Amino acid sequence: MKIYNTLSGKKEEFVPIETGKVKIYVCGPTVYNLIHIGNARPMVVFDTLRRYLMYKGYEVNYVSNFTDIDDKIIKRSIEEGISADAVSSKYIKECEKDMEGLNIGTDMLHPLATQVIPEMIDMIKTLIDKGFAYENNGTVYYRVRKFKVYGKLSGKNIDDLEAGHRQIKVAGEDNKEDQLDFVLWKPKKEGEPAWESPWGEGRPGWHIECSVMAKKYLGDEIDIHAGGEDLIFPHHENEIAQSEAANGVTFAKYWMHNGFLKINNEKMSKSLGNFLTVRDISEKYDLQVLRFFMLGAHYRNPVNFSDELMDSAKNGLERIKNCSSFLDELIEKNDKNELTGEEQKLMTDAEGFRKNFETAMDDDLNTADAVASVFDLVKFINSNVSSENSKRFLVSLKSLLTDLNEVLGLDTSAEETGDIEWIELLIAERTRAKKDKDFKRADEIRDELLQKGIVLEDTRDGVRWKRK
Ligand code: AMP
Ligand code: ZN
Repeated sequence: MKIYNTLSGKKEEFVPIETGKVKIYVCGPTVYNLIHIGNARPMVVFDTLRRYLMYKGYEVNYVSNFTDIDDKIIKRSIEEGISADAVSSKYIKECEKDMEGLNIGTDMLHPLATQVIPEMIDMIKTLIDKGFAYENNGTVYYRVRKFKVYGKLSGKNIDDLEAGHRQIKVAGEDNKEDQLDFVLWKPKKEGEPAWESPWGEGRPGWHIECSVMAKKYLGDEIDIHAGGEDLIFPHHENEIAQSEAANGVTFAKYWMHNGFLKINNEKMSKSLGNFLTVRDISEKYDLQVLRFFMLGAHYRNPVNFSDELMDSAKNGLERIKNCSSFLDELIEKNDKNELTGEEQKLMTDAEGFRKNFETAMDDDLNTADAVASVFDLVKFINSNVSSENSKRFLVSLKSLLTDLNEVLGLDTSAEETGDIEWIELLIAERTRAKKDKDFKRADEIRDELLQKGIVLEDTRDGVRWKRK
């Protein structure tokens, strides 16, 4: 498999550090709000990478953090009058619900920054001991110029960076030896959460948490480090500086970055008011549709979100699901077991679509082409399969289709099919029951939906539903 490595600016053959095993670290969201659809992109893309590597037989160890201490979380806690901890636990739970809807695998680790404070203090101490960091008035800074290869990931030149900094000199940063230096530990401010440290009470800077979580849960050297392209500089550059100076070995062999998600061809931002959360989407679509929509583009390209593209993703996904249930129906009714010669030949042709799928995925995770191979397979099945076929043939096709869908993280099991239609049918039945004054039946329907995690809300414009 080839992977585009931001570090070299080239597609490189993927060779793991240890044969048969892959260690992946992906920067996760800061949990101060519901996640937006941009945050969902790295989750979907790198979960698909994880699934594909597992499909190829690798043992994958995947870690993706939650940043649960940060200025935005503290600001939110002050606004809501609750602790920072309460803010982050609330949004971690919400994020986990969204991830479940997006079918992000559960066999991965999501550590929290606040769980590794002692380890962060240890790494900062090591950096001070090795001369890569210094303390001034309770703040610890990283000495950027001491790390000779600083800029190797982003391709930034240290002197250009210095010149840029001189122009926008930030107030209160005079304690630094050099404007380039960044914070590893900052002193406590009144009313903010803080931890004891050798430099007084305070809290860690943002970059150190990922260096430490990767080290603690994966080791000093990892295969793949990933995140959105906005993180290349300064976050990932700083992670490299911290980890490599502290551990004395190359931190990550491959650096992968996803492109940005835009809305109606504009940058998605709160100030433009074109901001969509994953939860907003879940009110209108099954979140599998969002996942499928994202996989329709190559992960390094920008992707544009629009209702039209989502509707087309919805139709595409439906086509795949319908094909899968069509096979299920034929399999159920069928009892012919012998594979005919003609079927054997067709099966070889069908396996060709698996080959195309793998070729696409091997080419720097080209999910767009991989999805096209799945559509080719669906078309092939629809035009070559009937109730005349043997069960063996039908089951082999079904298992081929399921293999590919599983790599993409598309759940095509029967219960999922028509989930939204099922909800809407029940809501319509409940509305009729209420009109007929059959309140017992109306309540039964509400309870039935609630048991499946669907909450109904009666509004002036009719009934709205959401997932718990
Ligand atoms: P944050 O919570 O801002 O640290 O972001 C969490 C992850 O989402 C990071 O990997 C970001 O690079 C990524 N991300 C944020 N916004 C977008 C976007 N609009 N499109 C794609 N990825 C994004
Ligand atoms: Zn990170």
